[in-house]
Amino acid sequence: MVKRSWAEPYKIKSVELLKMTTKAEREAAIAEAGYNTFLLRSEDVYIDLLTDSGTSAMSDLQWAALMRGDEAYAGSRNFYELERTVQEHYGYRYLVPCHQGRGAENIMSQILIKKGDYIPGNMYFTTTRLHQELAGGEFVDVIIDEAHDPANEHPFKGNVDMAKMAALVDRVGADKVPYISLEGNVNMAGGQPFSMENLRQLRSFCDKYNILIMLDATRTVENAFFIQQREAGYANKTVKQILREICDMTEGCTMSAKKDSLVNIGGFFACNDETIYRKAINLVVVYEGLHTYGGMAGRDMEALAQGIRESVMDEHQKARIGQVHYLGHLLEKEGVPIVQPLGSHAIFLDAKRFLPHVDQDLYPAQALAAALYVDSGIRSMERGNVSAGRDPKTGQNRRPKLELVRLTIPRRVYTQAHMDVVAESVIEIYEKRNQIKGLRMIYEPEYLRFFQARFAPVDGVGE
Ligand SMILES: *Cc1c(COP(=O)(O)O)cnc(C)c1O
Repeated sequence: MVKRSWAEPYKIKSVELLKMTTKAEREAAIAEAGYNTFLLRSEDVYIDLLTDSGTSAMSDLQWAALMRGDEAYAGSRNFYELERTVQEHYGYRYLVPCHQGRGAENIMSQILIKKGDYIPGNMYFTTTRLHQELAGGEFVDVIIDEAHDPANEHPFKGNVDMAKMAALVDRVGADKVPYISLEGNVNMAGGQPFSMENLRQLRSFCDKYNILIMLDATRTVENAFFIQQREAGYANKTVKQILREICDMTEGCTMSAKKDSLVNIGGFFACNDETIYRKAINLVVVYEGLHTYGGMAGRDMEALAQGIRESVMDEHQKARIGQVHYLGHLLEKEGVPIVQPLGSHAIFLDAKRFLPHVDQDLYPAQALAAALYVDSGIRSMERGNVSAGRDPKTGQNRRPKLELVRLTIPRRVYTQAHMDVVAESVIEIYEKRNQIKGLRMIYEPEYLRFFQARFAPVDGVGE
């Protein structure tokens, strides 16, 4: 059979012109940004792979949805449209809109966590863990060990290790574990899915101990696509059906709609339990806005509803993940060390193997991201020692096993030729990798330091 392309199920109606920069301009820009790609001006970036969060291209139908915004303070019809759409595709009874994912995390953490509780999760996410800690809980990583090994080819590296779950419950008691935060396509592990089989095991375990499963649904449609592609018995189910099957095994979710759902801003908390819902709509008025908008404009809720409908289409996910894998295969062919298996939303350069000569406290992933920007104007993101922060007990850098640079692909934004440029630049830096010496941190914010930390080259001469 002839292999068929992952080509896009859409054509381009409008384009955004980009500024082209010189290497000297980029060297000045990264120095001014303290070698932190978060602090670059977007104008100075050619291909922006910082994040897939809020960076998707909306469809003509989504732009049209903006015109249908009902900006009433209360009871906007766009809210009811969004509620119907979430009920249909995610299956939860109650919807609480929030300005973005962390707004939903704040509300859920405050409702479900008591001081001294433990919150297991299949790896941490920065804002998720911070809200758990601020609510008095302690995060416990229960992802399978394979997820911490960037070379391991396990097809479901997002799986929960049931032995780790059982050990936690044994150690602290089930009454100290209100819920497990289960993330679809685990971001920090490289966009790695859990399997339906694993979720079924988790469900029966949690039923036994009366522990809720709260989904971090941010990239769960992409997780559903991987289940369709990889798990026995799912090849003939649609992504839409698989998404419902996942959600139906959980009690609720937090959602950053800026990822899967193809909008630039938005999120929600959703659940099936009325008591939790009542508490959530009470808190949402304190932190986000009235419960029928939760910090979102009416027009944004309408665009989100349309985005959800587009996100669950099989052909959309095939092209979305097809493009990410196209880039991954180009790098693999040249022997560049990347996280395996290829994930859904990003290609992760393994900075420990890329720069084995740079100590982790000299932030190799941060240094590599800076070098990539200088070479070609590509903006990527550190996901390693800087992102992991300090251990609150010892005050030391966490020095996580994974020291990665994330090349995150926005949905429906860049072309195949852009992916070629990215691969060419990474390969060239890989050939010159010995020139990269590392960075020292010269300014460190208290919370989520990766966003605003500043660095300087260790040897004082550029990266
Ligand atoms: C982005 C993200 C969040 C937080 O959502 P925001 O919309 O950025 O506030 C939570 N969990 C995961 C897995 C994410 O990727």
